[in-house]
Amino acid sequence: MDSRTVALIRTTFKAVAAEEGGPDKLARSFYAILFTEYPHIRDLFPAALGAQRDRLIKAIGYTVERLEEPDRLLPFLAQLGRDHRKYGVTAEHYAAVSRSLRLALGGYAGTELWTDEVERAWEEGLDLIASTMTTAAEQETAPPVWTGTVVEHRAVLRNLSIVRLRLDQPMTYAAGQYMSVQIPSRPRMWRYLSAAVPPNPQGEIEFHIRSITGGWVGPAVVGHTVVGDRWLLGSPLGGLGVLRNTRRKMLMVGCGTGIAPLRAQLLAMTQRRSNPRVHLFVGGQHPCDLYDLATLSALSVAHKWLTVTPVVESIENPWWYADSGDPAPELPALQRRQVGQIGKVVAAAGDWSDHDVQIVGAPPMVQTTKFRLMAAGVPTRNIRHDPLF
Ligand SMILES: Cc1cc2nc3c(=O)[nH]c(=O)nc-3n(C[C@H](O)[C@H](O)[C@H](O)COP(=O)(O)OP(=O)(O)OC[C@H]3O[C@@H](n4cnc5c(N)ncnc54)[C@H](O)[C@@H]3O)c2cc1C
Repeated sequence: MDSRTVALIRTTFKAVAAEEGGPDKLARSFYAILFTEYPHIRDLFPAALGAQRDRLIKAIGYTVERLEEPDRLLPFLAQLGRDHRKYGVTAEHYAAVSRSLRLALGGYAGTELWTDEVERAWEEGLDLIASTMTTAAEQETAPPVWTGTVVEHRAVLRNLSIVRLRLDQPMTYAAGQYMSVQIPSRPRMWRYLSAAVPPNPQGEIEFHIRSITGGWVGPAVVGHTVVGDRWLLGSPLGGLGVLRNTRRKMLMVGCGTGIAPLRAQLLAMTQRRSNPRVHLFVGGQHPCDLYDLATLSALSVAHKWLTVTPVVESIENPWWYADSGDPAPELPALQRRQVGQIGKVVAAAGDWSDHDVQIVGAPPMVQTTKFRLMAAGVPTRNIRHDPLF
């Protein structure tokens, strides 16, 4: 795609995104056109579109930002295409989405901004996205969806659960990847969850799920999951992972359930002969939020290449935490617990400019930590995180 086409796409999207309420209005207009003109497509989407709308705009923003980085964008789109097989999408669906999005953008941007040249640029961009996704989907031989049975549900905190499943068919994924998941009580409400263990021939997989107030899926998982539930999983996504035989030192920063894909990678690394040095900062608001410290401590005891530093924002546990003391005061091999905002603590803790960095957690934490590290001299190309939607 030439640079003029990219510039035209970016300018239109930025103009829409910069306006107060613009992204939401664009998403509403897009879905209204899509469902009016192609009513049969409505069945592919959940009844409540709130999270879907937000995700659509973030996904477009993510793609638009990377149009000039095909090395990163095309693998991402290919993964998304493989994942979309779970919806049973066809070339006709992609064409309907492309046309509806162009109509929504055109209507929203107005005639001054939405020229024929701009429309052609968007058509070219959306064609590239659709063809990359459909080609990857057609070439994939793994199942479009995996089914798994819940074999354990552990309520670790009032608002956080660990759920283990046994898949009917083992999934091949890289430690550090995430997948979209659908639980039985929330049909069509797929949510991304990161696998907390590496792939294994037994087909066992573990997820750490936090319940967000007002959320559709998190509270249902934490409140109602029982052994025997059947979940659906889409194809693996994401590019986190530590290369074999790399000598580059690693800095990992994970907050809350963000620890899941990091611990999966550490567990995978324990099976290797040699590993680079890894410094993991594990953060949470309260001490009880560091719910997996015992595992990390055990890994650190057994593996000299791993250093683990706990970070909390407050040394007090919340009032609802029944076990009022520090939940893990005596764990061996951990660095001294730090108190403060995690990005600030990590940036001040050393020179990370020659490290490969992974950051996982809620989007604001990822952004803040990334900016802190960049300001401290870490090159942007050394910092990786999953898409923030
Ligand atoms: C790559 C990736 C990996 C993920 N891995 C995990 C994981 O391993 N474990 C896990 O628990 N979650 C993970 N998530 C988040 C998860 O996919 C859902 O977004 C989250 O569980 C909320 O879903 P929900 O249905 O409960 O809330 P929704 O119904 O989707 O959202 C309800 C409201 O809460 C807001 N909201 C959503 N998430 C947050 C948040 N983190 N903080 C504050 N407000 C929020 C929404 O904007 C919305 O207004 C991951 C997300 C991504 C993008």
